[in-house]
Amino acid sequence: MSPTTPTRPSRGTGRLTAYQRRMRAIGALHHRRYAVQLTVAALVVVAAVRHQRESSSGAPSVDALCPFGAVESLWTWVTTDRLLPKIHPSTLIVGLGLLISVIVAGNAFCGWICPFGTVQDLLHRAKRVLHLPELRVPPRLDRALRWLRFVSLATILLLSAGTVTLWFAGFDPYLTLFSLHWLFEPDLATMWPALLVLALVLGASLLVERAWCRYLCPLGGVLSALGHLSILRVRRSPSACTGCNLCVKPCPVGIDVAKPVPSVSTDCIGCLECVASCPTGGALVVSAAIPGIRRRTPTATTGPVPVSIRPRHERDAR
Ligand code: SF4
Ligand code: SF4
Repeated sequence: MSPTTPTRPSRGTGRLTAYQRRMRAIGALHHRRYAVQLTVAALVVVAAVRHQRESSSGAPSVDALCPFGAVESLWTWVTTDRLLPKIHPSTLIVGLGLLISVIVAGNAFCGWICPFGTVQDLLHRAKRVLHLPELRVPPRLDRALRWLRFVSLATILLLSAGTVTLWFAGFDPYLTLFSLHWLFEPDLATMWPALLVLALVLGASLLVERAWCRYLCPLGGVLSALGHLSILRVRRSPSACTGCNLCVKPCPVGIDVAKPVPSVSTDCIGCLECVASCPTGGALVVSAAIPGIRRRTPTATTGPVPVSIRPRHERDAR
């Protein structure tokens, strides 16, 4: 090639438009999040295979990796002074880790770690590839249905304490799917209620993105309530926001991110899709604040946003 031949700007060095930067930020976020989610899901599957194949060696089952067991155990112990049988000690450690992560980063566990959330994200991706329609739940019905998480939570806790058993284990769709009993020890006569619940939940998640997380997950109910204690939250600056609504559609749990409140709902699963999608610097950021202490709302005209994680495209532009 002659020295005078014009060259196209190489990837990463050319000057990108704001739209290209935003698309890059969204693509990079997807790669990172799916990498984390698929790694965790793969580890859980490995643990399930080990348990099925080497149960005599004491390899724990996948319910030992679910922090909801800690909630059930704690509630039963506090209300009945008795311990649930078959609870693996690791459940309590995972539960404590989750509590710390909620205080730091809200429900990011649901968006980045929970394998059942990953399955629902994969279903949503498949639906988009197949061009299947998304069911839009009317806002009032959506708000009402979200309370079902607390109904499900209260029912499970009352029945766990009442029977002093892991009552929910017989229906838990995470456990049904990831325990791999259906693969290693298929027994339709005893498993059909759990398989029916799993089929209904996966079917609902095909119609509505992350339907289980939005409307039924008992752990989601606990995390949503604790989310008010979280230090890192996605916050919107009404003065910087242009009201373009580009942040609304990508939200997997249907939060109206463009509504004029400083912090998004505690139903947020920390996926950061909205932050990556926002084209306006300082309008939507992840920022730290001690719960209960008022902080200055970030604006586009008041200089750098304090202690915040800015959208990737905004950082790239600097
Ligand atoms: S509000 Fe934003 S970060 Fe939270 S779940 Fe929705 S898109 Fe993800
Ligand atoms: S937060 Fe950002 S993406 Fe959402 S409406 Fe405001 S400017 Fe648009």
